[in-house]
Amino acid sequence: MFRIRRIYDTSSPVNKMVVSQVQAILRAQFPFIMEDDITQLPEKLINPLKLGFRSILFVADDLRGNVQGFAFVYHEPNLNFFYLDYISSAKGITGRGIGGALYDRIRQEALYLNCSGIFLECLPDDPSLSSDPEIHKQNASRLKFYERYGARPIVNTAYETPLSPQDENPPYLVYDDLGRKKDLRRAQVRPTVKAILEGKYGEMCSPEYIKMVVSSFTDDPVRLREPRYVKKETIPMVPQVVPTDRRIVLIINDKHQIHHVRERGYVESPIRIKHILQAIENTGLFEKVPVRTFSEKYIRSVHNVKFVNYLKKVCFNLPEGKSVYPYVFPIRNSARPPKELAVRAGYYCIDTFTPLNRNAYLAAKRAVDCALTGVNHILEGYPLAYALVRPPGHHAEWGSFGGFCYFNSNAVAADYLSQYGKVAILDVDYHHGNGQQDIFYQRSDVLTLSIHGHPSFAYPYFSGFAAERGFGRGEGFNVNYPLAEKVDGKRYRETLEKALIKIKRFRPDFLVVALGLDPAKGDPTGSWSLVAKDFEANGRLIGSLKIPVLVVQEGGYNQRNIGINARHFFSGLWKGYFE
Ligand SMILES: [Zn+2]
Repeated sequence: MFRIRRIYDTSSPVNKMVVSQVQAILRAQFPFIMEDDITQLPEKLINPLKLGFRSILFVADDLRGNVQGFAFVYHEPNLNFFYLDYISSAKGITGRGIGGALYDRIRQEALYLNCSGIFLECLPDDPSLSSDPEIHKQNASRLKFYERYGARPIVNTAYETPLSPQDENPPYLVYDDLGRKKDLRRAQVRPTVKAILEGKYGEMCSPEYIKMVVSSFTDDPVRLREPRYVKKETIPMVPQVVPTDRRIVLIINDKHQIHHVRERGYVESPIRIKHILQAIENTGLFEKVPVRTFSEKYIRSVHNVKFVNYLKKVCFNLPEGKSVYPYVFPIRNSARPPKELAVRAGYYCIDTFTPLNRNAYLAAKRAVDCALTGVNHILEGYPLAYALVRPPGHHAEWGSFGGFCYFNSNAVAADYLSQYGKVAILDVDYHHGNGQQDIFYQRSDVLTLSIHGHPSFAYPYFSGFAAERGFGRGEGFNVNYPLAEKVDGKRYRETLEKALIKIKRFRPDFLVVALGLDPAKGDPTGSWSLVAKDFEANGRLIGSLKIPVLVVQEGGYNQRNIGINARHFFSGLWKGYFE
């Protein structure tokens, strides 16, 4: 697990330690750098403009300050460009997405500062310039990495002229336009190249050499090499004001509409997502990212394999437009599963209003993928992520579905996160989060808490009592707060504060919030009366824990206020975390 952050100074002990680790990596990975350049590093950060360039250091470190990689960038403030000098993982650390996360962060910063683009040097992948096959291979993979961002070598210039004829591997000058598809003009690139060469090689190369290289930039606009490795650039432009490490990563279930139960009165409908999205998308707080696809093994890690297989099979066997509602309920696992698939539904279900249909499996699987995508971003160092999904998941237990839920997305996410540290799940849906309670009931590494309507009057009726505290090793690690039928914002907050104290004592590394918006006034499935400003206050309290948070959408069915309440919740969460 790592986070990406910019180091502004070396005043704190953690930052001192981080910078000295960066120096150690530089010595180990770049044996040709002058020792002076390495020892000057802290001073460059404190006195950023001393050398005419602003020095910017990004690190990927874990929560204990162990540096796993870093990037060192120069920002030229007059010509306003970035020059990426070094980007490297610590020795022995590769393939964990650190390079990509660091480079993403550099691009964010460049966009934030409205730079013309990022320049960097890459060793050549042309066999005539790089004869050693091993080095050639490394060079090619590096160029491929940058090509995915649309960054490619500038061609038709003398930049690759070796300083002395026997030098191998003269570098290309690579340019990343930050996805803006704007031409790089000759008049702009010439002083840029001059500044780079003087800054980087001033003592090594003659003014004549620099002049020769600069004047070799004759194309206007400058031309980039045709893509060689990547058919389509995968990193879209991100027009923005706030760098992404201060934004909430937003993952939307792009397949939720395929799951549309048209029976009258079925409140868990696609319009819910639309209303939330409309309300939050123009706030500037969110960074929408694509959904990644994950193996089903993450689901099987928290759900009974037989149940998962059944759900998949029954859904795929159903014809378009047909729903199966469970109607026979073999008492929990004491009976054999009925042979007939439609009849067997009740073996794995807890109620009579959660239908199976052709697309339920696919939509639920995609919701899990969204939550896991959020986890990956949290692990990459983004502090806040929101999986805006339906169907919801918090009523799905180890071996059963129900309450509009099929797979428990928040539990799958928490289980995955638990490989990297302690996790707390806070369920703020109006209904008890019986799913994750059941799944983690005997575990002490995942604390489950739920604030909900008392089961004496609220779904799911059979669980959510205060006496359910966990079992075995998990004893004490499940906390229920069943509340009365009438609850307003103030009463709610008193309980939320208690829950947050429990969470603080547990000292989790990650928090998963199962976000129900059904505590809201007028929700057709609830009885409480929270309004927008209450959701904002709740979000702020949760954010102020300053723990990385993955929010997974659960219930909330009042179409008139679901969007505005979501917006207030996230604005509070954001302020709580960053202010
Ligand atoms: Zn609910």
